[in-house]
Amino acid sequence: MSYETDTIYHVVCDGCGKGYEPRPYDDGRWFVDQAEADQEAIYDGWTVTGNKTIRHWCPNCCKADKDGELQPTKEALAAYRRRRAEARENKVAAKDPAKAVEMRLNRLMKKGS
Ligand SMILES: [Zn+2]
Repeated sequence: MSYETDTIYHVVCDGCGKGYEPRPYDDGRWFVDQAEADQEAIYDGWTVTGNKTIRHWCPNCCKADKDGELQPTKEALAAYRRRRAEARENKVAAKDPAKAVEMRLNRLMKKGS
């Protein structure tokens, strides 16, 4: 007996970080196919944006624009950018903690202005 490794996908909101939860009568929240994962989430009110970098937005983090297209809210976009910046800072912190602190301070000061 041996093992095989496979990849499965779970959609997570780029705004609030919440994971996709399917309707109770559906199979599950893990998919062997990214497109199927996206499709199920979209069916439940999520939206997917981007071409090169795909982003997912839960129903709480998107709203319809004037054309009826779901778009991420300003708050969701801000949360996404903050998390990305924090991830970059944490990566830098592993090698250069002082530089990471400087990056974080610059970011927070810019936000306050
Ligand atoms: Zn969300």
